Amino acid sequence: MGKINYLDIHPDKYKLLLKRMLLTSLAEVHSKSIAQEKSSYCPVCHNNEISHYEIKNGFELDKCEHCGHVFCNPMPTDEQLESYYNGEMKLLENQIFRDTFEKRIPIFNARVEKIKQYMEEGKLLDVGSAVGIFVESLVRNQNSLSISCCDPSKDACSSLNKRFGDNPSINIYNCWLHEMPAENKFDGITLWDTLEHITDLSPFCEKIFELLKPGGYWFFSTPNLNSLEWSIAGRDHEQLVPPGHVNLFNKNNILILLKKFGFELIEITTPNGSMDVGYVEKLAHGSSDYDLKLGTFIKAHLTDPNFKSALSDAITHANLGGNMFVIARKSI
Ligand SMILES: [Zn+2]
Repeated sequence: MGKINYLDIHPDKYKLLLKRMLLTSLAEVHSKSIAQEKSSYCPVCHNNEISHYEIKNGFELDKCEHCGHVFCNPMPTDEQLESYYNGEMKLLENQIFRDTFEKRIPIFNARVEKIKQYMEEGKLLDVGSAVGIFVESLVRNQNSLSISCCDPSKDACSSLNKRFGDNPSINIYNCWLHEMPAENKFDGITLWDTLEHITDLSPFCEKIFELLKPGGYWFFSTPNLNSLEWSIAGRDHEQLVPPGHVNLFNKNNILILLKKFGFELIEITTPNGSMDVGYVEKLAHGSSDYDLKLGTFIKAHLTDPNFKSALSDAITHANLGGNMFVIARKSI
């Protein structure tokens, strides 16, 4: 399978426009500002050892010293979120998804392959389907699943209806997850890059639990702060974007979350390392500020035999090894 290219997924031509629109959107969001009370504990592990992490887009983020969780504190209000998610910037984001639709399909093909190992048939609910890239990948990859999509965005649902409206095995719900009827149970629920947007994790995870049949699967993706790209970019990471991203997890505290809401972990993988490498390359070329962190990251992980072996492979594949093996032929 080909590697995913960072710039194909995040084309530079949109960067400036998005930045400008974000500023307009934030001005509107903050005009609705109502002071919320700060939480004194981590929303994942409930430990009260939390400290200030960063102020971004006018929102304060804290970090839990116990589980490493980074979260908005206080969380944005419902009114602020309403304004953010219904603004023009979100429409542009959906347009970017439509423009990069085919380039994003391979990301979802890999996820579909994984899902097929666990469920060949039954009912699947995709939460936050956006413009339907995952559903399209499912349809292309021949499946016997009955698919339901839910998304609160009218714009997203109009895209979904255009693409899948005639497909009898696909149901489209223009609603929030909590509005899904409780009596409708699923064999699997998918949630791609959505968990980080959820302000109140408890009712959300409880609803996922409620909608699943006993033994049903929950497949999801979300940023991992214990990663190459987050270790290097840190507070500068382009995905540190409140009020959009409000809960940022890591490989370890996902376990705490799952356990708390009655789920058992089957596996965690972090595919598409090429996205990390592409992003870090962009950062490292843009500024020398990241040189030290890049060195620190490599040094820290050299004690991990998996990392060491993969780095050895990368050096070999890129012909960067310190010893040359030369084969020559005497010309005739
Ligand atoms: Zn915590």
